[in-house]
Amino acid sequence: MSKLFIAYHINSIIKIISKFLICLSLFFTLSLYSETIKKFKIVIDPGHGGTKQTPYEIYGDKFDTVSGRYLEPYKNGASYKNRTENEIVLQIGNEIKDILELTKTKKGFKKFQTYIKIFSDSDTPWIKLEASMTRTDSYLDKNYREKDDKNELYRLYDFPDFSTGEMKEGRITFINKEEPQLVVSLHINDMGSKTETDNGGMGVVLTPSYQTFELLKRISEKKAEPDQFLNSPWSNWMIFERGWSRLENAIADSWIYFHGYWPTKEGNKADLNRFEGYRYNMVNWKYKDSDGWEEKINTPNTPYALEHTQFRAIGKYWDRERSKPEIQKRENGPEGYGGDNHYAGMEILRFVQYSLRTGTSNSDEYKSPNPILSPYVSTYSLPALVNAISAYIELGDIRSNKDYYYLTQKKRRIAIAISVAIYSLCNGLEIRNIDTPYIPKGKKIEFDKYINKNGKSYFINLQEKDSDK
Ligand SMILES: [Zn+2]
Repeated sequence: MSKLFIAYHINSIIKIISKFLICLSLFFTLSLYSETIKKFKIVIDPGHGGTKQTPYEIYGDKFDTVSGRYLEPYKNGASYKNRTENEIVLQIGNEIKDILELTKTKKGFKKFQTYIKIFSDSDTPWIKLEASMTRTDSYLDKNYREKDDKNELYRLYDFPDFSTGEMKEGRITFINKEEPQLVVSLHINDMGSKTETDNGGMGVVLTPSYQTFELLKRISEKKAEPDQFLNSPWSNWMIFERGWSRLENAIADSWIYFHGYWPTKEGNKADLNRFEGYRYNMVNWKYKDSDGWEEKINTPNTPYALEHTQFRAIGKYWDRERSKPEIQKRENGPEGYGGDNHYAGMEILRFVQYSLRTGTSNSDEYKSPNPILSPYVSTYSLPALVNAISAYIELGDIRSNKDYYYLTQKKRRIAIAISVAIYSLCNGLEIRNIDTPYIPKGKKIEFDKYINKNGKSYFINLQEKDSDK
């Protein structure tokens, strides 16, 4: 063999090997790429779905394992004329679910990117937003019409099968088992808007953390000054009890949060006729008190004491309530107060506003939607009991003709805006700056803050036993 011949062959062997190596590295790059597509778990929670079936002790919600009955009628949501919150939020929720589903495949994500373009000119990476729904129908669905218990699938809290005594999962337990990072709850309220003075009802729903409830408790015990609350951003508290001041309402909520009973108007004594239940024990999660807790009812120096002075916030749930992740979720943060819950809810509403205000044409009935109102603040169950960032939003007022117009005629646009907002909260998004009153910040939620020193996310492994800790 001539040297030339050998050189020729070596040359072609090298070529083949290098081609092979290029293919191999391309293969690894691609497979590595597909493995690094980030996934986020989202729960879409269209509010309500059930009915005020009577007697509420047998068909309501908030099942109390101490008294063996439901403590309140099922909250069926707002309705006015032929409009119902239950139906409107379900339609929007179902559309959001369909849109998020697009992120499952690369082809679908291309379509999702056309929605992102409404808000941004940037190139956006593919992330997967895996969504589940807390309900996809309502008690009016034909499958449930014949059922004795119409609320079976729509309760917030766990409840028994009365024939077997076995406990079934309510919505909060379901959400926590999904281990999402973000829960988006969709609601419409009844603010009594009239056509002449229509301000709508759009706003976020917040529950503060232990810190704020503890301050209110101390104010009621005369250990802290009312000004500490009145000068705080939480002072615009919801008024549920008319004739009571905002502070009196806030103090009432603080006692409901702590030991379940309403206080008297003065805030210094429990009203034993008004009980809201030990709510954290009405869901199945690792922060529930150990079996047999019911036997300690009415015992001084426990969480179940009746007297304010004898109440003690001790146990797994109260440790959780004082923990750093719960403070991050519910206090301070990008909006100044209300933590990441406030930020997530406001971002979603800013996306909705941005979208509705840029998508208006001359044929539309209204030039622009109603503004975002100040948050609705109280001791709401969901933001306190879901183990995820809770974006709890009121999309409008059922009585407002303008809100109703947008919620029905522009529901696709609203669903797109909420879906892109979810993308932005998970990934971040550079928003196109235009002349409009509400521009989303486009900053992602800092989920890394919720990873502990062992590398575990606060939002997962919720079912682990104490012994695994
Ligand atoms: Zn509602």
